[in-house]
Amino acid sequence: MSIKNDEFGPERVIEVYDQKTGMWGVLVVDNTARGPGKGGMRFVPDVTTEEVFGLARAMTWKNALAEIPFGGAKSGIRGDPKTVNKEAFIRAFARKIKPFIPDYYIGGPDMNTTEKEMAIFADEVGTPLAATGKPSSIGGLPHELGSTGFGVYCATLVAAGFVNIDLNKLTVAIEGFGNVGTFTMKYLTDKGIDVVAVSDSKGTIYNENGLDFENLLDTKSKKGTVTAYKDGKILSAEDLFKLNVNVLIPGARPNVIHAKNVNDVKAQIIVEAANIPMEYEIEKVLMKKGKMVIPDFVANAGGVISSYCEWRGYNEKEMFKIVEEKIINNTELVLNKTVGNDTRAAALAIAKERVSDAMSKRGWK
Ligand code: NAD
Repeated sequence: MSIKNDEFGPERVIEVYDQKTGMWGVLVVDNTARGPGKGGMRFVPDVTTEEVFGLARAMTWKNALAEIPFGGAKSGIRGDPKTVNKEAFIRAFARKIKPFIPDYYIGGPDMNTTEKEMAIFADEVGTPLAATGKPSSIGGLPHELGSTGFGVYCATLVAAGFVNIDLNKLTVAIEGFGNVGTFTMKYLTDKGIDVVAVSDSKGTIYNENGLDFENLLDTKSKKGTVTAYKDGKILSAEDLFKLNVNVLIPGARPNVIHAKNVNDVKAQIIVEAANIPMEYEIEKVLMKKGKMVIPDFVANAGGVISSYCEWRGYNEKEMFKIVEEKIINNTELVLNKTVGNDTRAAALAIAKERVSDAMSKRGWK
């Protein structure tokens, strides 16, 4: 294992193994100066301690920027969820890391873990405070409520307002029509904004006059793809990134904008709904051209803000209000502090300052 500690962490790296089930897992608590370490639990065959540390550090910044009283952490369970006894693995992992919950770690869904696994994890630890993203029947606020997409919508409005684009004339293209993409489109179209293109793994559907949300949702659920939508042109999934729209929202996969297509991006504003839809170097290419990039950990923080609300026992209505306030305030703050279009540098500086301040106040430095 080759994790280099720095002034922020990680505070704890705990690798666990359960002899009976053969479960291997890891918990990395990066920094708890602002509160218990919060981050998802991924369940994949090749998870490594280094990978989990990278994700834990990202959570330290994300939670600080979202301005919620959580530190950063992440956990991983190694196993193929299709072949191992998933429930037994989750329960074994919960027993091993129980001493750190919830003071140092609070779980949440990530790759191959959903509200179902969060319910099992919390049950095994013995407290609902062990995880967020639990089913609503046991007091959870699941991601299925659409908090992340709602936050992406709020960030988009702030970004458009910042460059004075008239919302009535705004055109938007969204990559992905999963949890994040559907709710982003729903809130944008409710506001009367034209979403002109949406993609999924089968391709892009495009209509310059706008797509109908309910119709698209119905088409996707009945036919399995947005490209079966009747009233539009079918393009490739890759073509979405080249469209002449005001706002481009990559909302599905990592590294979709790269050296080969970055110069084809015509949108003036790119709101990163997915995690790492492009590397920082690629963002800088867009920034140099005068484009506005709302970084992932600013735009897609609705999910972690919802987690905090669940942890505090707030209801759905209160949660949406808090997501709205925090995403709007933090996006405005980042844009106001940005020098030379480098929104990521500004966002990171704000997050680091908040963590450093909490560490100083606790006498940790
Ligand atoms: P999801 O699994 O619900 O949806 C993923 C979507 O991507 C699906 O519609 C799928 O069709 C589409 N897709 C797959 N291949 C594609 C392709 N080649 N071209 C276009 N679309 C393709 O996932 P999600 O929860 O919506 O998450 C999407 C992204 O947002 C991920 O990067 C995730 O890490 C990030 N994110 C999600 C949340 C959340 O609360 N769900 C929070 C923060 C960040």
